[in-house]
Amino acid sequence: MKLYEQTASSLSQLLQNKEVSSVEVVLSFLDRIELIEPYVKAFITHTPAMALETASVVDSRRSGGEELHPLAGVPIAVKDNISTRGLRTTCASKILENYIPPYDATVIESLKTAGLPLLGKTNMDEFAMGSSTENSAFYPTRNPWDLERVPGGSSGGSAVAVSTGMTPLALGSDTGGSIRQPASLCGLTGLRPTYGRVSRYGLIAFASSLDQIGPLSLTARDSAMLMNVIAGHDPLDSTAVSEAVPDYTAHLEDGVKKLRIGVIKQNVATGFDPEITAAVMKTVTLFKDHGAEVDEVSLPLTDYGLGAYYLIAPSEASSNLGRYDGVRYGYNHGGDNIETMFSATRGKGFGAEVKRRIMIGTYALSAGYYDAYYLQAMKVRTLIRRDYEAAFRRFDILVGATTPTPAFKIGEKIEDPLQMYLSDVCNITDALAGVPSLSVPCGISSEGLPLGMQMTASPFREGLLLKAACFLEQKRDPVSLRPRVKLPEGGEV
Ligand code: GLN
Repeated sequence: MKLYEQTASSLSQLLQNKEVSSVEVVLSFLDRIELIEPYVKAFITHTPAMALETASVVDSRRSGGEELHPLAGVPIAVKDNISTRGLRTTCASKILENYIPPYDATVIESLKTAGLPLLGKTNMDEFAMGSSTENSAFYPTRNPWDLERVPGGSSGGSAVAVSTGMTPLALGSDTGGSIRQPASLCGLTGLRPTYGRVSRYGLIAFASSLDQIGPLSLTARDSAMLMNVIAGHDPLDSTAVSEAVPDYTAHLEDGVKKLRIGVIKQNVATGFDPEITAAVMKTVTLFKDHGAEVDEVSLPLTDYGLGAYYLIAPSEASSNLGRYDGVRYGYNHGGDNIETMFSATRGKGFGAEVKRRIMIGTYALSAGYYDAYYLQAMKVRTLIRRDYEAAFRRFDILVGATTPTPAFKIGEKIEDPLQMYLSDVCNITDALAGVPSLSVPCGISSEGLPLGMQMTASPFREGLLLKAACFLEQKRDPVSLRPRVKLPEGGEV
């Protein structure tokens, strides 16, 4: 097997056994990027020199006998809304096209301390608003399973980079599904951690009460290893919790015996693609056959989740994005006075979806409407959280489909925001409740597209989700989840 085809955990073994050097590993991924990237466009910025420099430092420290982090020398790609000191961070927006942060996000510092070479910054929907990566101000990213389809979003670039073997690991962010939905559409494991588990310091804010950074990878073990690097308290983020961080790899092999699993009625619903519900139910049977206790559960507030999310998230966004005024950050379109400068800068700097969110959010927060919209949505949010608390008194893990359909066609939903919003209908309520949620591959459709199952647990039980995902992986061959990319000019890579 080529180095770029390996999982992060097997690369970690090879590196620790000194069977390969990190420079060799990085070079293998750089070759792969050169080959695949023109077809899928998963990156916004490439950092080969930085990656090689980190790799050679790791190699010399390792050969000097130093005890290093297990992921030292294993490369990673990072979504372009995570700040990197001295390295362009665009949020896939024109308004930040040339923005170079003066500091690193806490997760970036953690990656540097652990010694993971950074291969580049990945494409995304502008300011993480979207479900297809078509809202990038630069170019859409393509799904390697079918180049005419979307990879999901907003962390589509991160998902595609892992799926195609351009990187073994990636970081994404999830406000209302942006890690889990692309993971599902690309055949990966993607974890949205408990709100507060991973520091948001340096994550460019979309909706601060919902945003979380998390891993995307080929296997649950890889995500567990990466969680070990990024989870933990951070004095620079007042919402980061001080709860002790477990070793997420410790219980991966424990199996699912006696696990109480609730199948969420609303997330295997009749409107969903029948192939997805069938794949989810087949997986549930597998759990049951191995000793899990399974029953159905209803989360009745689910119907109101999308409505509440699309008031709360835009409200927070309208406030967070107020800072892009052409004075302090990035793009400035000029103008004769301050008003024309603001409106020209924001008018030209933001894309259509971002403007739509700013308008919805500003309206929902305005005097006279606040009670009717924002406050009402916050009340629904509380009720949704109670729905989950009640369910977790009966169950350890709640499961259902990650998405109602497999990857849709590029252009199919972009003119119809409501259809686009509906594609993350299963990912919204856990985000509003602040609970951890993971997507794991559970099948392939008759058209050859990956299908994902979502599993949700109570706060800080990410380990349980990773354990259940690891159990499922042992029932299949992870390498079969690598797509063969069919090239437009013929042939595949
Ligand atoms: N697709 C959802 C939205 O557009 C979620 C995005 C996200 O999680 N960043 O808001």
